[in-house]
Parts: sequence; C-alpha cells; structure tokens
Amino acid sequence: MEIEQFFRSKVVIINGAAGFIGSHLSERLVECGAKVIGIDNFITGNRRNVEFLMNNPNFRLIEQDLNDQAGTLSVLEQIKKQEGRVDVVLHFASPASPPGYQKHPTETYLVNTLALHNVLVWLREYAPEARLLFAGSSEAYGNPQVHPQVETYWGNVNPNGPRACYDESKRMGESICGVFYRDFGLKTYIIRIFNTYGPRMDLEDGRVLPQFIKQVQAGEKLTVYGDGLQTRSYCYVDDLVAGALAFVASDYAGETINLGNPGEFTILQTAQIVNQVTGRADDQLEYRPLPIDDPLKRQPDISKAKKLLGWQPQVPFRQGLARMLAFYQVQTNN
Ligand code: UDP
Repeated sequence: MEIEQFFRSKVVIINGAAGFIGSHLSERLVECGAKVIGIDNFITGNRRNVEFLMNNPNFRLIEQDLNDQAGTLSVLEQIKKQEGRVDVVLHFASPASPPGYQKHPTETYLVNTLALHNVLVWLREYAPEARLLFAGSSEAYGNPQVHPQVETYWGNVNPNGPRACYDESKRMGESICGVFYRDFGLKTYIIRIFNTYGPRMDLEDGRVLPQFIKQVQAGEKLTVYGDGLQTRSYCYVDDLVAGALAFVASDYAGETINLGNPGEFTILQTAQIVNQVTGRADDQLEYRPLPIDDPLKRQPDISKAKKLLGWQPQVPFRQGLARMLAFYQVQTNN
C-alpha cells in the first residue's frame, strides 16, 4: 500500500520526534496527512528541529522523559483520550552518536529497553491493534565478522565496552519486540539502521559527517580516527524515512530488516570527498587514535528490504552530501 494512503488520518506517536531522524519522520508523516504527536525530552534532540511544524494543526510536541514511567503513562493516556485512538508508535528516542550515548549511558540503555517495554505494555492494554516500529541499529552487529551484514548474522558485540550501553540495549530492544510479537500478539517491526545523514544532524554530536562539516566551517583539518581504513555506508535520511514508513505500513510485523545504503566508503575516502566538494586541499587531515571497539567494517545487505518492500535508497552519497552541506550553508564546488 502507498505510504500516503496508509498514514492518512492515522494517529502516530513519534518517540524522539525532535531528534534528527524523528524530525524527518514527523515532517513526512504530516505531509501524508497523519496526526503526529511527538514526544521528546531534548537530551540530544532539539525543539528547533521541528519548529517549522509547530503551527501545523496535525503536529504536537510533548516534552516528556520516556524513562519516567508514571509521566509517560499519563501522556499516553492523555493522547488516547484526546485522539480517541493510537494507530502507530515509532520508537526513535535514543541518543545515537557514540559521544552522545557515552555521555548519557543509563538514559540510553533504559530508553531502548525499559521505556520500550513500558510503551508496549501500555499498547497491549489500551491499543492492542497498534503497530510499533523499533529503531534498532546496525550496532547490533558490533564489529562484524560477516560482510556485508545480513539480518541472519547475530553479530560480534562487546557486552561490556564503551559502546555497550547502546549496542546491547538496541539488541535487547529487539528481544523485547520479539516477545511482544510472539507471546502477546502485538504488531512490532524492527529496523536495523545503518549510518544515516542529512540536514538537522547536530553538528556537535561527534558523528563523522557533522564533525567534518563543523571542521570545514571552522577552517580546521578533518579528524580521521585510526588509519581511516574502517568503512561506513551512508544512507540519506529521506531514503531511511521512506524505508521505515513503508515497512510499518506493510503486513510484515515480526520481521527485522536492515535499512541503509550499501555504498561503502572508508573514512579516509569520506574525508577526501568532503575536502574535494568543499574545495579544500587534500592534505587537510589530522589523524587521531581509533576509539575502543570502533567497528572496522559496516555495509548493509538490503536484499530483504528490497524483496519485502521493493525499497532501495535513491540518493547517492555525493548528492546527499551536497544537500546536507547546502543546509549548513557550506559552499561547494557543485
Ligand atoms: N570518525 C572519524 N573522525 C571523526 C568522527 C568519527 O574518523 O571526527 C570515524 C569513527 O572512528 C568511525 C566512523 O568515523 O569509524 C563513524 O563514526 P560515527 O561516530 O559517525 O558513527 P559510528 O558508525 O561509529 O556509530
């Protein structure tokens, strides 16, 4: 079914609506004619990201920490009372950059596990027909020994390293969704999100592309961690949003799919491309130590999403990068 047709007039709760991906989901869903209620506590999200939606009668933003159980339950009750029903919940509320989740480790593991559990318990009781999409992560694969990563690979994760608060809670979140699907009949959908980029990323969040853009703006060298030969595959946010919404609109509850762009780049290539398109010299690089447990390779196998949804990314890296640079008003060669 077409995304627009599915979401028209649906009541959709977006946990983490003021975050980078949450804000793009909000924008797209409002465009589709859904009634969107965003929930955020702004620890890594920012009200500015959805400011342009604030006057839209189909969008509402509620400040609430999802890790506060009593507060969250009362917000959910209020929404149900006002809207009459809840059709879809998109659970995207989690710090997502390594510095972000390492600064908020308990908030991170709780929101991906206990907060998710609490929302599912509430749905089971008050909206058992609702669908819930959980934003899992390619971090479920850890430092992968299978390449590219396919959904049937179970991963190679350090359960007690500096990334564990994120990786392991994203894995546990998947387990929780599985229990509610199998044992309680709820329609849960799991996506494993690979590195996503685009406008509204927080330039302070330390992830590679925002960090490089910030460094370009400041006229500084780009910081390459390790030898720069580790790889990432970058998916433009509009492609990610299209895949996520097509999935939750589908009949494939209980499934787990990778969402990402298979175009794979080393970090060194990434830095070179950024220098090139912004007209800087090739040697504007500075090497720094590789963070502990930094995965060496990452590339999604997206055959499953292609087969189930007919989805695949449309925006090549250079094009998406140009759009992102334009958003931050960085001059490019294009
Ligand atoms: N990275 C880098 N320089 C930076 C920031 C990140 O070389 O200034 C590297 C980082 O070590 C990792 C990759 O870029 O190998 C992607 O890092 P990011 O924090 O964006 O996300 P991750 O995929 O590790 O969650």
